[in-house]
Amino acid sequence: MEVVTRREEVRARVAAARRAGQRVGFVPTMGAFHEGHLELMRRARQECGFVVVSLFVNPTQFSPGEDLARYPHDFAGDCAAAAGVGVDLLFAPAAEEVYPPDFQTYVEVEGLSRGLCSDRRPGHFRGVATVVAKLLNLVQPDRAYFGEKDFQQLRVVQQLVRDLDMPVEIVPLPTVREPDGLAMSSRNRYLSPAERRAATALYRGLLAARARRAQGARDPAELAQAVLAALASEPLVRPDYVEVRDAATLAPVEWIEKPVVVAVAAYVGQARLIDNIVLE
Ligand code: AMP
Repeated sequence: MEVVTRREEVRARVAAARRAGQRVGFVPTMGAFHEGHLELMRRARQECGFVVVSLFVNPTQFSPGEDLARYPHDFAGDCAAAAGVGVDLLFAPAAEEVYPPDFQTYVEVEGLSRGLCSDRRPGHFRGVATVVAKLLNLVQPDRAYFGEKDFQQLRVVQQLVRDLDMPVEIVPLPTVREPDGLAMSSRNRYLSPAERRAATALYRGLLAARARRAQGARDPAELAQAVLAALASEPLVRPDYVEVRDAATLAPVEWIEKPVVVAVAAYVGQARLIDNIVLE
């Protein structure tokens, strides 16, 4: 695996792969790899001749007071893990490489960026859309792989490439979980052992909502209540939001007639964790 930090190096390597007739797969990340990241890379490896991973903790998607400065990092471990699953190129730019001093263009996906995580993180999806647009333009992959764990982000990215006619196929992958159900996240590293145990309440709540739906519930408030009850059983968990939204549009629903996503965000100690489940 080759590690590069400059944009022109990425362009040159991808151009060479293209000349060799290879399909290019791309996995954007913020590092501190876990099995969720590695699953995206493995899928890219299976489907593409040349696999590019970016490792960039994107400052524009963090709000003031968030964990940008202390976001987990393990560059040596990440390099070893990415090489281990057969990644060809790791692009790990400095912030000034992505955002030179005269940078002034931002991308905003309007409707899908509202509500859910954006209420607590204003400007977050503008930062996500901007960096994803830049990275897709730079790498110009045939396929780019994203996790359903970040469901609103996935929808924003799908809309972005559709609206801007970007010639890339967005491939979504299911959330990878710990054996006890906790969605894998780089931010799980912030949790103390007691917080780590309490954090399972998010997925337990989502499973309770799924059970209610399977029993025939169609009132979104009833599903949200099931999640909140699970969160309330853990004193170390402070709910941020529980929402039931249309799985395609993320619009609020008053009565469940189409697939919905049940999305939850909660604080556990220093960590703000998110999870979701799609109910067909
Ligand atoms: P991040 O490094 O957190 O920005 O995540 C990089 C990519 O990995 C995004 O597409 C995430 O949705 C995806 N991802 C993060 N956690 C998981 C997980 N537990 N399962 C599947 N994909 C994930």
